[in-house]
Amino acid sequence: MSFSIHGLAVSRGIAIGRAVLVASSRADVAHYFIEPEQAEQEVQRIRLARDSVMEEISRVQRELPSDAPAELAALLDVHLMLLQDEQLSAGVKHWIVERHYNAEWAITTQYEALARQFDEMQDPYLRERKADLEQVVERLLRSLKGAASPVQQSASRRTPQGELLGDSMDVPLVLVAHDLSPADMLQFKQSLFVGFATDVGGRTSHTAIVARSMDIPAVVGARSASALIEQDDWVIIDGDAGVLIVDPSPIILAEYGFKQRQAELERERLNRLRHTPALTLDGQKIELLANIEMPADTAAAVQAGAGGVGLFRSEFLFMGRGGQLPDENEQYLAYRAAVEGMQGLPVTIRTVDIGADKPLDRSARGDDHLNPALGLRAIRWSLADPPMFLTQLRALLRAAAHGPIQLLVPMLAHAREIRQTLSLIDHARAQLDNKGQAHGLVKLGAMIEVPAAALHLGPFLQHFDFLSIGTNDLIQYTLAIDRADEAVAHLYDPLHPAVLRLLADTIAQCRAQGRPVSVCGEMAGDPAMTRLLLGLGLRSFSMHPAQILLVKQQVLRADAGKLEAWARRVVDSEDPAAALQAG
Ligand code: PEP
Ligand code: MG
Repeated sequence: MSFSIHGLAVSRGIAIGRAVLVASSRADVAHYFIEPEQAEQEVQRIRLARDSVMEEISRVQRELPSDAPAELAALLDVHLMLLQDEQLSAGVKHWIVERHYNAEWAITTQYEALARQFDEMQDPYLRERKADLEQVVERLLRSLKGAASPVQQSASRRTPQGELLGDSMDVPLVLVAHDLSPADMLQFKQSLFVGFATDVGGRTSHTAIVARSMDIPAVVGARSASALIEQDDWVIIDGDAGVLIVDPSPIILAEYGFKQRQAELERERLNRLRHTPALTLDGQKIELLANIEMPADTAAAVQAGAGGVGLFRSEFLFMGRGGQLPDENEQYLAYRAAVEGMQGLPVTIRTVDIGADKPLDRSARGDDHLNPALGLRAIRWSLADPPMFLTQLRALLRAAAHGPIQLLVPMLAHAREIRQTLSLIDHARAQLDNKGQAHGLVKLGAMIEVPAAALHLGPFLQHFDFLSIGTNDLIQYTLAIDRADEAVAHLYDPLHPAVLRLLADTIAQCRAQGRPVSVCGEMAGDPAMTRLLLGLGLRSFSMHPAQILLVKQQVLRADAGKLEAWARRVVDSEDPAAALQAG
């Protein structure tokens, strides 16, 4: 039966595919397709893994001391029984043979399906057996890890979706999860999914930001989507409207297929603007920069015609590594790769912004803390660990010897923090000098993303070469709305008069002092905001590469001079959203 689920639109476009339900804890399980003729080999891997796990459990059972509690022996019996369960093995085989999933993916997929059946059981004893099943699956996955897939080794099929759709496994897949951390999303960046949906998350949560950077349709905050959608269901993800349509009728499918083709045509039209200079009608030159998460993203930035990188979120190099931080050389190579990727264009690298909804890894989720967004995050985290921060600074300064790097510091609020940061930068430089290591000059920038900074710009204008307004956090902290919490997403408002005033004043003060200023929050990539930001005097915008041409289209149609008076009226209005619409 067809039904729809409403969430928040985070990444444009329409995706149509079969649902793959993934638990966040399993996001690091390999997902790739095998060739049909490799199915028997993959099924055999599972058999061997199962035999070895059964052998392991039987050995534990044999060696149980005589005074071991009887429950323990019974528990091991249950595990042995589950391993031999027909539903588990037949299901896993089905995903491998019929759908060509690799072994690990097939196991976790079947686990999700069975776990759901356990959840629905009336008998509490049976319901609790889900935990046993989970442990059995864990053991199987561990055993499989010890016996890497020959398929994966010989022919990794983690191909980009385009290639996949063309071959025999021509069923597009959409990923549905309760929650995915930003690090999980990164795992899927080069994957085979054509769309994403999660139960939780706000429009500017970092999970949503990574989805947007992948430029595939995504919906977050879809509440109970992962409970209502079943493995293998056909799902339409409407990333423009923020809607999921499950099990659509042929008529609906045809309608969305049409919309997909229209969007494709629109993209082709936009692509023609790639080489058009970003000039307003009155001849103002507008800088359109890219936001990236990884050095490899520079390819998309160059492809979209970005004038440089306005925000490299360096924390993505630090995440999903079990807390193991990248050393100086690894970071240096990554920053250097970004500089080289941009072929001489400037690259703004933000120092690490770990914390809040960007924990280092899943086991250290920020939400274990009382108020993660207000806690030890970004520059606070860096200043709390000078050796770690100095390592990053040295890597950045060394990479600057290879091309133009600008160093951007997140979440500063206090003059004291500014002084500490600048002194650590000097210290890092001195360390490199002492070792005789080459390094380059960098321009220094600060993010304005805490209201205190926007309201007291003096120290920032005094110490920094440029400022970059992080509207995602500026809105979160001005309105006291957790940007990652879908329950308050309706109150997260870029057009709140208080937000607009902070934005307008910051831009105006920078301009009055001749200090370069840009916006690198999601507002910069929203074409509905371009005219307003131009009218407020903004001349530098940084956004996901996929947004650049959409924003350029707005720039080309705008007369920046004429927009000034109108923008002032919008900011002064009691209802800026209505004034924006009217204008
Ligand atoms: C912002 O806060 O607007 C910003 C660009 O930084 P992030 O989204 O990574 O917090
Ligand atoms: Mg921020």
